[in-house]
Amino acid sequence: MEREHLRGSLFLAIVVASALLQACAPSLATVREHFDSYDAFLLRLERLRVAHPDVVSFEPIGTSHEGRSIVAVRVAGPLVDPASAPALLALFGEHGDEHDSIDLGLGLITHLATGYGSDPTITSLLDRKVVWMVPMMNPDGAEFDRSGTVEPFSWRKNRRPTSETSWGVDLNRNWEPRWGWKPESDANDPDSGWFAGERPFSERETQAVRDFLLAHREVRIFLDYHTGFAPFMQGGVGFPIPKAEADLPPTRRARLETLAAGVAAAVTNPRDDRHAFVVPDSPDAAKTIRPLAPWWARPFIPESIPPAPGTSGEWVYGELGTAVIGFEISRDWSYFRGLPSSQSELVENQSRGLLFLLEELSSDTFHEH
Ligand SMILES: [Zn+2]
Repeated sequence: MEREHLRGSLFLAIVVASALLQACAPSLATVREHFDSYDAFLLRLERLRVAHPDVVSFEPIGTSHEGRSIVAVRVAGPLVDPASAPALLALFGEHGDEHDSIDLGLGLITHLATGYGSDPTITSLLDRKVVWMVPMMNPDGAEFDRSGTVEPFSWRKNRRPTSETSWGVDLNRNWEPRWGWKPESDANDPDSGWFAGERPFSERETQAVRDFLLAHREVRIFLDYHTGFAPFMQGGVGFPIPKAEADLPPTRRARLETLAAGVAAAVTNPRDDRHAFVVPDSPDAAKTIRPLAPWWARPFIPESIPPAPGTSGEWVYGELGTAVIGFEISRDWSYFRGLPSSQSELVENQSRGLLFLLEELSSDTFHEH
């Protein structure tokens, strides 16, 4: 009953936010001006690798339905011991219409690569620990979203044909163990933006990231950067509770809360009242968190977030026992999925959160699972 009430409130908030989104929808020309094509994205990566050959390398980990390489980027110093170094994986662009996420991934790679050798903190961390990033998990969806065929910022899925008249699966609903569990109303509808696929891991893109993680068990923290929920919690830091809330023992919940709260504190901009906050997972938590949010965001903060089944974070925590933290980011807090007023400010803020987590990262982070 309570869950139904929460879903109802969330639905209302989504309707209001959608109307506001329509009112300030960015144009195709603006999107193309600010966000890279897939080819330009690859070129930026290659330039980073050439400029920082000791620190940046990348490898294909799979191929999208339309044949584009899905790339994993490794950022680590030459002194790091690959046999024992703990690692972190950050995932960007799981949804095709979340271009800010992809751009942030490239910005963070640049920040770390240029900081190695000049910033003592970054240098020390990257000599002991490894950062993996998948900066564009869904290249087909991102290309389609900026193609002009659909409204920009509207194509969330990949581009595999799923019926004679339907395309695409929501990659962040295609994972086990709760694939199809209490499906959202349209998770079984191929025409829906939230279509979960015909079966778990039906998509090449989800298979690629899953197989990478299975081959890299040294990854102890997993970060998933989105923008789709930004109207509710811009700058928000969440922590998925996989399988079911009850599965999380108190000690592990406390550890995750500490990590998430530390990231939230790190990314909060001290110069204004725009606070990052840990996404509430209970009505009690919401009471504490609401006052921290900017006034205009408060109506959009639900009492708690209904767990979305079939997400990447659920599988990574549930199957691998890795700490998972989700982000909802936007460049400009005053716009809904806003266009950049300051890309460098977003990278600067989010890099503080990333460095906090790198400090916390160790081989036994969550290893008792
Ligand atoms: Zn998303």
